[in-house]
Amino acid sequence: MTGLAHDRGLFVPDVIPQVSLDTIESWRGMTYADMSTELLSQYIKDDEIPKEDLRKIITKACGAFREADVTPLIKVGDHYVLELFHGPTFAFKDVALQMLGGFFEYFLKKGHNNGRLAVLGATSGDTGSAAISGLRGKEGVDCVILYPKGRVSEIQERQMTTILDENIHCVQIEGTFDDCQDLVKLAFGDKEFRDEVKLGAVNSINWARVLAQQTYYFWSYLRMTDDGSKVKPNFSVPTGNFGDILAGYYAKRMGLPVGELVVATNENDILHRFFTTGKYHRRPINKTISPSMDICVSSNFERYLFHLMDDDADKLASLMKAFESTGQLTLEGKTLTKAQSDFGSAKCDTTKTLETIKKYKDDSDYMLCPHSAVGVSALHQLNIATYSSVALATAHEAKFPAACKMAVPELPTPPVQLSRLKTMKTRSQTCRNDIEAVQNFMKKRIHERKSKGDKRKNMMMAGAGIVAFIAIAAYFGGFTLGGKKKK
Ligand SMILES: *Cc1c(COP(=O)(O)O)cnc(C)c1O
Repeated sequence: MTGLAHDRGLFVPDVIPQVSLDTIESWRGMTYADMSTELLSQYIKDDEIPKEDLRKIITKACGAFREADVTPLIKVGDHYVLELFHGPTFAFKDVALQMLGGFFEYFLKKGHNNGRLAVLGATSGDTGSAAISGLRGKEGVDCVILYPKGRVSEIQERQMTTILDENIHCVQIEGTFDDCQDLVKLAFGDKEFRDEVKLGAVNSINWARVLAQQTYYFWSYLRMTDDGSKVKPNFSVPTGNFGDILAGYYAKRMGLPVGELVVATNENDILHRFFTTGKYHRRPINKTISPSMDICVSSNFERYLFHLMDDDADKLASLMKAFESTGQLTLEGKTLTKAQSDFGSAKCDTTKTLETIKKYKDDSDYMLCPHSAVGVSALHQLNIATYSSVALATAHEAKFPAACKMAVPELPTPPVQLSRLKTMKTRSQTCRNDIEAVQNFMKKRIHERKSKGDKRKNMMMAGAGIVAFIAIAAYFGGFTLGGKKKK
């Protein structure tokens, strides 16, 4: 439930569990949910979550997907595409956030955090809707998402505001996305407020998200080898905050046969520059047609650097401290060579992205979203677009109609779940760009919901009391229950 550790570092597992090829082989016939349970139970022991409870959480999360396979692996062109967008919001973040919502609910019900959590996040589009979808209706959880008024696309806004569950609060801020992020930072910096409302985060550094995402790397390997072929798959991953590809790195470290892990970036190419030159140097953000990868630094990259520094936390801390003050981190020699053996990389600009979308539509009648096209282009740039390679497809093209229209004359009809958003009821609040206004709003809403919940609980307890009284009276009094006289 805590994103950052006290020293502002990130959480990593004490040990990376090792699985043998025989163990992986024994998962072959399993459903996605059962396989995921086996995999995650390597990290989560019975004293934390008993395996059958874990299975329930995972199975429920997978049930939110439209495909029985959850993340289907299909052949397109001369390689594989792993479709990660069959969840409620049509983007890959659902894979992790559906599960995270289940984990939160599980621990809150057990009384952790006093049974309550108020998740606060800022969004420019994608993450907000996936978080809302993963947390809607979850007991003990309130979810407050701030977004800039009039500055997110209509589809993305409606994906958030049409969720009418009482625990979801969409707040339009009269300002920019940066203002929203600043408000979130200010809220987290206010210890008194943080403790009062039990503030929590679901951002991409949350370890549970990285954990959940490891499943589909194993899933892909198993499906590629179902026919008995021997492959060491390459994975090309459209990358922003380095969460998705980091899951692949852990899968490889666990023992999964993996060839190359390819970091695919758009014009925001700090990672591509690092893996080619050793220079991890911050630059201003470029706005692109693959907005979910528009980052200037990658928040999960620090986890990889930790392992690259041979798990030396002090060494990493000094590197990160220097990076914070100068915006530059440079590695050379053996360390850089090691990094280059762990990851390949490629950069795909707008022109190449549009060309790739058009080529796949023309040649294979397959529509790629602009993010997925970046990953596919990387496979071609590195000359590994073969049946040993998987391009991860991170969003459905209907979420990015404007970009797709730049590449192809006609768009396929959007799925009904997206087109019907236009006529659905919405709910949202507007708030000034002011931390006190946001905090007051949150306190008020959470207090209202809490007292309502307490009232309901009291009524339920009273109800249970009456039933118990009747049952006891029936037992001792011997009067009829359900028609039969009891002796
Ligand atoms: C978030 C996102 C990405 C980037 O994933 P990271 O884990 O941040 O690297 C890529 N594509 C889409 C559609 C996304 O929503």
